[in-house]
Amino acid sequence: MTQQEKNFEGSLKIRLYNTKSREVELFQPYFAPRVGIYSCGMTVYGYAHVGHIRTYTNSDVLRRLLEYAGYQVTQVMNVTDVGHMTSDEDAGEDKLELGARREGKTPWEIAEFYEDHFFSTIAECNITRPEVISRATEHIGEQIGLVKRLEDNGYTYKTDVGVIFDTSKFGRYAEFARLDLEGQEAGARVAVDDQRRNPQDFALWITNQPNHIMQWNSPWGRGFPGWHIECSAMAMRYLGDQVDIHTGGIDHIPVHHTNEIAQSECATGRQYVKYWFHSAFLNVDGRKMSKSLNNLYTLDDVRARGYSPLALRYLFLNGFYRRDMNFTWEALESAQRGLARLWGACAELPAPTGVVIPGFIEKFESAISNDLNTMNALAVVSGVLETKGPPESKASTIYKMDEVFGLDLANSRTRLSDFWRLRGLRPEHKMQAESMADKREKARKNKNFSEADRLRDRINNMGFQVEDTPQGPKIVPMFDFDFAAMRKPVCGHCGVDEKTGC
Ligand code: AMP
Ligand code: ZN
Repeated sequence: MTQQEKNFEGSLKIRLYNTKSREVELFQPYFAPRVGIYSCGMTVYGYAHVGHIRTYTNSDVLRRLLEYAGYQVTQVMNVTDVGHMTSDEDAGEDKLELGARREGKTPWEIAEFYEDHFFSTIAECNITRPEVISRATEHIGEQIGLVKRLEDNGYTYKTDVGVIFDTSKFGRYAEFARLDLEGQEAGARVAVDDQRRNPQDFALWITNQPNHIMQWNSPWGRGFPGWHIECSAMAMRYLGDQVDIHTGGIDHIPVHHTNEIAQSECATGRQYVKYWFHSAFLNVDGRKMSKSLNNLYTLDDVRARGYSPLALRYLFLNGFYRRDMNFTWEALESAQRGLARLWGACAELPAPTGVVIPGFIEKFESAISNDLNTMNALAVVSGVLETKGPPESKASTIYKMDEVFGLDLANSRTRLSDFWRLRGLRPEHKMQAESMADKREKARKNKNFSEADRLRDRINNMGFQVEDTPQGPKIVPMFDFDFAAMRKPVCGHCGVDEKTGC
């Protein structure tokens, strides 16, 4: 450990809920200022949906906060492109092979297509691309090596299925998920084959599926890895035996992460992960948004309905990452309006000077470092906008906070016009409304108030509202207006379609 590492103290004390202890703890990485994060990635056999986006937004806010606090983050995310069965236990079919059959493609083609879709989806949502992206199929050697280690340490046995991990040999197996192996929970896990010693034992290497397309040679014969082993193998390959933070959705606690802990700690004899960070679900009508329930929305659906990808981010930031959230289009509409207003306010600000307004950053930090209280942290932004401070400093203060929010507030003008374009608003719509607003101004100056009112109604008919500000009248598009329906040029007098207008 170098002196710098020993002396490092994050400028900000971060408190995080740790699933392992079920408590909010002070965050102290193994080797500050470095922080290693392993994030369970997608199983790339279907489109990434809004539920995935929630989980990856939450872990992105965490990594942004750590960087904000001065840590050097290395984030590793796996791509599951083999071995994940249709149940999280070993039953069913490999999801990649299922996808391949469904679409008449090879599993490799399926993986490539949905992986690209996933990474473009998260990029559009301003989710930081992890430093390392690792595919399971490209780390078969590491996985075989780890299974070998477990075998050498006496934690495995063989069945007709392949190499199985004996969970009864890991005394703490039930601890992490607080499983009641004797009682109800045990019944919930049905042994996949009658040769298993314990219902929760899981496959490390599978050799009994000759029709499985993806197969590799191994000391146990040709086969493919079980799902859980990939995460331990790749986490250790890139971050070492001990990982600071491991992220994923709460569904991973009882099986996938429980198994990761068992196999990693039995291989190394050391604690695998210091802090476990789990995101709650995004539900639809009370049920998890998921491919198997056929209730999912993708980013394309979101855009097609006139919402910016970042409206999702704003929606998620307005909830607590550990609480389930119910997805509705009404909630997204209200998040989008809130974000558009915020972009509108930021678009008016001058360039930042770097000088922040005292008080606000402290409030922001105290909220965000308290187990990511993003709602309270966002409320500080409104406080800054309402204060009387110099606008340049308002900009500096808000953009500093946005390093963690990731709402791209420094590019508000562009973001706002992109959003209105999604809603069908074209530049000529605005120009026409503006020219009408000029006429209205003239009428007002000439004290022709009835004409001014008539012109205001016409502006409203064109989907804009006139706001009288100290700098003069401003026209603002209306959220409820269907600009897309106004395809044809509008009448310069009444704002209605040229042919049917006055
Ligand atoms: P999968 O591809 O199903 O393995 O999921 C990838 C990640 O997204 C995991 O961490 C899941 O827990 C998470 N995830 C899947 N569905 C949802 C959902 N509806 N809400 C929140 N997170 C989800
Ligand atoms: Zn994983």
